[in-house]
Amino acid sequence: MRTKRAPGVQIKTPAQLAFMHAAGQVVAAALRAAADAVAPGVSTADLDAIAAARIGAAGAIPSFPGYHGFPATICASINDEIVHGIPSASRVLRDGDVVSIDCGASVAGWHADAALTVPVGAVPAELAKLIGDCERACWQGLAAARAGARLSDISCAVERSVRAAGEYGIVEDYVGHGIGSEMHMDPPVPNHGRPGRGPVLAEGMALAIEPLLVLGSPDTRLLDDGWTVVSVGGGWSAHFEHTVAITAEGPWVLTASTGPPAGALAGSPAGVLAGGQVIVAPARQPHPAG
Ligand code: MG
Ligand code: MG
Repeated sequence: MRTKRAPGVQIKTPAQLAFMHAAGQVVAAALRAAADAVAPGVSTADLDAIAAARIGAAGAIPSFPGYHGFPATICASINDEIVHGIPSASRVLRDGDVVSIDCGASVAGWHADAALTVPVGAVPAELAKLIGDCERACWQGLAAARAGARLSDISCAVERSVRAAGEYGIVEDYVGHGIGSEMHMDPPVPNHGRPGRGPVLAEGMALAIEPLLVLGSPDTRLLDDGWTVVSVGGGWSAHFEHTVAITAEGPWVLTASTGPPAGALAGSPAGVLAGGQVIVAPARQPHPAG
């Protein structure tokens, strides 16, 4: 049986991917700067200003302001807020919180999108583990983004990593996505599922892979502000995201400025880092399509 060629998925040229990599490096720097500023007493508006300054100084365009009316450069989601929190001067971080920061930017019209979760001061071991397990699941998904693989191989890799790590809720209402000339494009990239399904991944595709994990039920609810998504059960959450390009050399993590965290690619081929270009591993032979 022939497999679908994913007609709706945008294929980027090497030059377009280079713009996305440039955008990705700006996003990485903005996220790092915001994460470095996380401390008790800092507001999420402070973090937003830091990220906006980094993006502006690099000559890139933040992707979030004005996106369906969103009013800021980052999303900042605290504790039981899962995603899409609006930065505010009145949202002040406290010791023991966890804050997820999500940021996107474009260069020459080509977008990159990434997110991370940071503990504020000292957090319980359970929360530190949640954060580490979410980041590892993200990297396991990135490592599965290979030409010739199927889209759900990524979803399966994320889910397997999560299930092996602990009893977490995997959010299903919000998922990863294609990315390129727009921030959100086809295909959706769920964070769970059986392997070997969906479109065949091809060189030039780019995807944002972003597991959202909850300590408890992953069911979500939208707050009255129209943006902030919280867990229905009140469980605290973590979110990691990277934009990855599918290349002949393997998955090219456009939003990474360093390699994966230690142990994040356990079970996958070792990572390679050269000149700020994170390629997860040399390409393997594609497996035959079904
Ligand atoms: Mg994002
Ligand atoms: Mg995204």
